[in-house]
Amino acid sequence: MKCKRCQVPAVVALPSHHAAFCRNCYLLFARRLVERAIKEHDMCTPEDNILVAISGGKDSLALSWQLRELGYKVTGLHIDLGIAGSSSVARAHTERFCAAHGIPLHVLEMASMGLSMDEVKRRIKRPICSVCGQTKRYFFNRFALENGFNVLATGHNLDDETSRLFANIMRWDVEYLSDQGPVMPAGNGFAKKIKPLFRMSEFETANLCFLAGIDYGYAPCPYSSKASFPVYKNLLADLEDIQPGRKIHFYDGFLKRGRAGFASRTQEEVRPCNACGYPTSAGECGVCRLKEMMRGKE
Ligand code: SF4
Ligand code: ZN
Repeated sequence: MKCKRCQVPAVVALPSHHAAFCRNCYLLFARRLVERAIKEHDMCTPEDNILVAISGGKDSLALSWQLRELGYKVTGLHIDLGIAGSSSVARAHTERFCAAHGIPLHVLEMASMGLSMDEVKRRIKRPICSVCGQTKRYFFNRFALENGFNVLATGHNLDDETSRLFANIMRWDVEYLSDQGPVMPAGNGFAKKIKPLFRMSEFETANLCFLAGIDYGYAPCPYSSKASFPVYKNLLADLEDIQPGRKIHFYDGFLKRGRAGFASRTQEEVRPCNACGYPTSAGECGVCRLKEMMRGKE
């Protein structure tokens, strides 16, 4: 197997791209996928002040590294979820990575706000992943807006995006379908959100970490079996094995031909939370209600 670009022995085969690459050409290939995503969707410029949501996993570290390599101004925000056995590993990897690459890092501790996810799981009878996801989105957005960041970047990859799209289509969830895409504009209490890795699969971001020498954390969250997207990820992975390239065609097709059919409802439905002022479709936002519930059950 030879590198498609320079013909030396290849180290990675990518059937989806009908290609194989040596280390240097793979790094160039990954760089171009991210550059293409940014350019095609007007994600960010070198003047932007970009906050990167860093979980400590391969995608968020690969994203921070690649944005930095491309010359963007990046700062990390890590949310320590307070999940025993998993959060401390993720935080340690994040702190080590940011220190090694000179990336400024902020850490928010959910436990110090009475919202450690272990406690939430113990006390609140709601699906933990939905509470956790909502809490993370809230604090990433709020931190960006309150600290002068005009772009919030997340490490969602092609597998995340296609499995979410697949799940939303299976439910014909019009509201979520209208909001799905690699860029969400700023406004109405939301920072601009971008997903520069949306053209790269999990396998490709893992390879990027490996070949760029990025040490990413892996201590699986004990609640990860409660997440629903892995089912859809596995189905799409089987399809990709039979028909390489199917995932990116599915997603690109949605962006070009499907999404316009689902008018965005976000703008007309959200209003400021009565307690914190951040956007919600109810009187009080989910995080303010969660805080109240946690206080009430002490
Ligand atoms: Fe949060 Fe669920 Fe992910 Fe664990 S698996 S970090 S609870 S969203
Ligand atoms: Zn609120």
